[in-house]
Amino acid sequence: MDFQITEDQKRLQGRCLELAADFASRSAEHDREGTHPSENYDILRREGFCALNIPEKLGGAGLGLLSHTLAFEALAQGCPSTALSFNMHLSITGPLMASPQVSDETKQMIAKLTVEERKLIAGNFSEASGTALIGERPLATRAKRVRGGYSITGRKMFASMLQAADYCAVATYPDDATSPSAVMFLLVPRVADGRSVIANWDTLGMRATRSDSLVLEECWVPESAAVFRADDFGDFRVDFGNWFWASYTPVYLGVGIAAYNELLNVLKERQPLGYSQPLTYHPDVRRQIAEMSVDLEAARLMTYHSAWLSDTDGPTPATMAALFRAKYMVGEVVSKVTQTALKLAGAHAIFKGSRLEQLFRDGAIAPIQTPPSDFCLYNVGLFETGLDIGDVLPPLKPI
Ligand SMILES: Cc1cc2nc3c(=O)[nH]c(=O)nc-3n(C[C@H](O)[C@H](O)[C@H](O)COP(=O)(O)OP(=O)(O)OC[C@H]3O[C@@H](n4cnc5c(N)ncnc54)[C@H](O)[C@@H]3O)c2cc1C
Repeated sequence: MDFQITEDQKRLQGRCLELAADFASRSAEHDREGTHPSENYDILRREGFCALNIPEKLGGAGLGLLSHTLAFEALAQGCPSTALSFNMHLSITGPLMASPQVSDETKQMIAKLTVEERKLIAGNFSEASGTALIGERPLATRAKRVRGGYSITGRKMFASMLQAADYCAVATYPDDATSPSAVMFLLVPRVADGRSVIANWDTLGMRATRSDSLVLEECWVPESAAVFRADDFGDFRVDFGNWFWASYTPVYLGVGIAAYNELLNVLKERQPLGYSQPLTYHPDVRRQIAEMSVDLEAARLMTYHSAWLSDTDGPTPATMAALFRAKYMVGEVVSKVTQTALKLAGAHAIFKGSRLEQLFRDGAIAPIQTPPSDFCLYNVGLFETGLDIGDVLPPLKPI
């Protein structure tokens, strides 16, 4: 292990903390109302974040996962939903720009959209019938070749910032494919015939991501909308697991850190009647603070190290195990830390509008967010033992 945080990375982190302070002033309202934090997305567009992981030779910032991690850990401390949703854009653009399977022409088109036009791209893989529990199933959303382009039909779920983004990269099954794990990503613009949205994202946490359901009924897109096609979606996901899976990890780390900092403020200010010291002087409180700090620091170091390993060595088995280990650790630690923060702050903190109440709900999503904790352990086990996934028995009996 040999990594340094460079001066450029510290500058980026500092700027993201400034942006986070501004985002924090609107976070509670977007959470309560379940509204898109569109003004935050606009600020991030202006600041060039749409091109964060576009290669420098195409006009982007060309950042790797460690820089991204520092940025999104900071942004999430202000508004977790903003950071999580905006990251969907980067989790799509990263793999597309890095994949040798994507043509130069498509890469230039995406660079133009993101660098020059500052367009925002949502990403929608998920479908109601899909589950990481039993591995990849063929996608139910179909793309049919028609005159001049493709016609898409199907229903997707959980598409963050769907109505706020300019496009949604939709994962479809090409009608003429034979492999069950085939995929084609098609860019569907916000307004298109045959595209509609079911606004059903009324959830416990991460409410302002507005991860609604997308319905496509013979929705036509031109040929140029097809930005990626492969017979094996699984390989693509592993090769670019840094963006597909690991780029959400720092967002939840930021949620845990925000809860920890907020709790310290609360405890330093609360002085019980008849005593001359605030609650931080209580030894039991201090011990729990110490435990939270140990957990968070361990999670932070695992996250930074895994990101550095990914930037340095690429998707080796050691890197993949490290990325899944870090997400597992962050998921477990953050759900625990946000719960302890609520417990220590007590009944004063459980009111709607309390920052700790919101962070508790957002933190509860950490182990559920892709890749979920059990899926992380499943993968750490595979990469550590070096087993071939093809030789592993399915966990449920197929039909
Ligand atoms: C806030 C939020 C935003 C999202 N935004 C988007 C988006 O923009 N685009 C998009 O496409 N999707 C999005 N999703 C969906 C997400 O990426 C997952 O696809 C979706 O959550 C998968 O369904 P599931 O949660 O039911 O998990 P499942 O994959 O069905 O897993 C259910 C549970 O099973 C267990 N499990 C899973 N895999 C294994 C395993 N291998 N071994 C043992 N146990 C296992 C875990 O406990 C897991 O929590 C979002 C989800 C959330 C919570």
